[in-house]
Amino acid sequence: MTIQEYISANRERFREEWASLIRIPSVSCQPEHHADMLRCAERWRELLLAAGAQHAEVMPSDGNPFVYAEYHVSDTAPTVLVYAHYDVMPVEPLDLWQSNPWEPDIRDGRLYARGADDDKGQAMIQAKAFEYLVHQNEMPCNVKFIFEGEEEIGSPSLSAFITKHRDLLRSDIILVSDTSMIGKDTPSITTGLRGLAYWEIEVTGPNRDLHSGHFGGAVKNPINALCEMLAKVVDENGKITIPHFYDDVLPIPEEERQMIAQIPFSQDRYNAAIDIPEAVGEAGYSTLERNSCRPSFDICGIWGGYTGEGSKTVLPSKAYAKVSCRLVANQDHEVISRAFADYMQQLAPRGVRVKVTPMHGGQGYVCPIDIPAYKAAEEGFTLAFGKRPLAARRGGSIPIISDFERILGQKTILMGFGLEQNAIHSPNESMDLEVWEKGVIAVTEFYRRFAKSFQAK
Ligand SMILES: [Zn+2]
Repeated sequence: MTIQEYISANRERFREEWASLIRIPSVSCQPEHHADMLRCAERWRELLLAAGAQHAEVMPSDGNPFVYAEYHVSDTAPTVLVYAHYDVMPVEPLDLWQSNPWEPDIRDGRLYARGADDDKGQAMIQAKAFEYLVHQNEMPCNVKFIFEGEEEIGSPSLSAFITKHRDLLRSDIILVSDTSMIGKDTPSITTGLRGLAYWEIEVTGPNRDLHSGHFGGAVKNPINALCEMLAKVVDENGKITIPHFYDDVLPIPEEERQMIAQIPFSQDRYNAAIDIPEAVGEAGYSTLERNSCRPSFDICGIWGGYTGEGSKTVLPSKAYAKVSCRLVANQDHEVISRAFADYMQQLAPRGVRVKVTPMHGGQGYVCPIDIPAYKAAEEGFTLAFGKRPLAARRGGSIPIISDFERILGQKTILMGFGLEQNAIHSPNESMDLEVWEKGVIAVTEFYRRFAKSFQAK
């Protein structure tokens, strides 16, 4: 039986199982849903066993439990670790939903419900591709599933859990379906995510707010000082001037630049959508390169002195700013954090004291597009969608992916099948059912190709 035939023959059951997950309101950030988290984990355990896992269990953690399941073929086969999450975002405001968020509703080829995509729908893609191969007795890989219940609240228990169970979770590649494609007709695989470093700066001048008539010109104004310092962080070519900032930044491979150039994109429409006269950034890079493959610096907030109605002639005692850098893979957020703090001291003009407090940070991630697992995913997409997927780096961050690399020592392939219009986290979240079925085909093919490339090694 081909995968298409298997999907046709089992479509109704697939949707009923998917619905059984959706009906459990597993909202991780709302304490009243605590019992639902356990129910949802237990339901996944049943579904993974029914799909063919030889063993499945709900494992405790410091927070919501994890679901672990495995299927062992042979000691020489490669092992794939599939990560997904069973928790969802809240549904409020409820009145904006056209149908009950906890009951799937199919309209215009889409399934509407909370979790339709993120991540119950995408996790079902993984479960059903797995089920098909096991059912056919053709699963060429050892498979381990690890599903968490705290992704939407920042995965507070994940790194401790995977550190503790590092041996259990040993694999040759990690597979995650929790991202989106550029478009239904532009399949893509997310290959990079940016890291983050964030600081608060406090500049102190005199010990109290002063009369600017009595003191202005004779005492350094901390807001003036802060503006002078921050104005130097990015130069006229859009380059960040923090010493050694670019030391670890890897150049964008030429093949990837060519793929980025193929992403459907209109600079005019981009400018019009956010109503800017012109998009400006680092010289030598396109907008899509700047917002995904290159680091950036932003002042996120700046305050001090008098900002109320009318005018008050004051020379303030303090000035503050919150600033951040988006980092790219290979840049270490802690190294950058220290470099920036040192730089601010270096730039501080005479007459003020500067304090820099690091707030939080995270590492970026990049998946090389020439490794066998990426190639296997690419071939899966090509078979399912009839088109070679574009490798696309995203400007945002998913900290767990860099944790996997750091703790488990493996790369992650982000085989995501979401679409922008799926409206994850929003009212009327949905999943395109045609894309969902193509996703199952793509993942099935991934297993076959990955096993083959592994044997060839
Ligand atoms: Zn998600």
